[in-house]
Amino acid sequence: MSGATTTTILSEFICSKLEPSILQAVYNKTANDLATQMRSDIKALRENRPNLEKHILRSLAEKEDFEQYIEYIHNPRRHFKFFIKNEVKSYFTKQNKLILNIFKGNLKQKEQIVCNAVKAATVAVKSKSGDGNMWFRCFTKTLTDELKFTGDSCVDLSEIKDLDFLENFLSDSLKEKMTKLQDGFKSTDDIKMEKCRKTPDEHLIEHFCQCCWVQCPFCKAICTNTMEGHPGDHSVSFHRNTGLNGWHYRKTTNLSISICTTAVASDRSFHPNSSDNKVPWKEYRKAGRKYANWSITPDHSELPYWKWFVCRFQKDLETYYNKTFQGMGEIPHEWRQYTKKEALESLDKYM
Ligand SMILES: [Zn+2]
Ligand SMILES: [Zn+2]
Repeated sequence: MSGATTTTILSEFICSKLEPSILQAVYNKTANDLATQMRSDIKALRENRPNLEKHILRSLAEKEDFEQYIEYIHNPRRHFKFFIKNEVKSYFTKQNKLILNIFKGNLKQKEQIVCNAVKAATVAVKSKSGDGNMWFRCFTKTLTDELKFTGDSCVDLSEIKDLDFLENFLSDSLKEKMTKLQDGFKSTDDIKMEKCRKTPDEHLIEHFCQCCWVQCPFCKAICTNTMEGHPGDHSVSFHRNTGLNGWHYRKTTNLSISICTTAVASDRSFHPNSSDNKVPWKEYRKAGRKYANWSITPDHSELPYWKWFVCRFQKDLETYYNKTFQGMGEIPHEWRQYTKKEALESLDKYM
């Protein structure tokens, strides 16, 4: 085979092998870039999980959707994921143009990297008077990390002596191929995000959800520690009233209105898991493992938000737990004074 024929074959081979590698790299980078972009554009995703939780509570209150509240209370991790996915979804519908630009920009950037690799290989091999085989090894080596491009040309490339011809021919073929590829992406509908190794939501979920998810055994508030399996006690700034979690007064069907932080200072007792075993609140840690590793310090810090919630969803909670806020669990008059606006303000003020 002549050098020119081998050059053509090699060019075609490289172009066809490069296209999927480039696309995959572009998808992966775009997903990562978008996750970063969303973390600056979307308020709820700007900081840490406590900030995200504040936005989730705000959104729950705005929607007043009891089902979603119940999911948040009993399966917070699932609800956080659901919330993040929704934020990403609405970002995608609102930011079409930006997403397309990021994707196409990455496509351009990868093309540039390949062009540079072609030129660099030519310069390096010419200085050593090498042939096509050496050129191909040099070219693939440069792109291994960037595009996971590896492999064998399957042909003997020693015929290729005119490296300038190879460089020009390959550069032209690449350009043509990449232009066609660019033109294929006209709108975000052409971008198939599921092709990303990790989608933007997966990046974000990983960022926000790798932390402690242990919930207070009384009120289900989530531990705020940023490390999963952290040493030391679980803790949270604000506990809620335990009726939210279905706790009720012994031998009644009255849902509890006591808040963990107040209860642990009282002289009352509770019965863990509705057993006969009576434990004084002041020694709550003695009730068993899931109680022992929580630090609940007595204070009067209460979030008006949860008082508003109980009043607003009293009927739903009563139906859900098949119990009522009556008797000992009579909702204090003071709780009913809070408006939704005040509830939301309390989130901004304290959380
Ligand atoms: Zn609690
Ligand atoms: Zn924890």
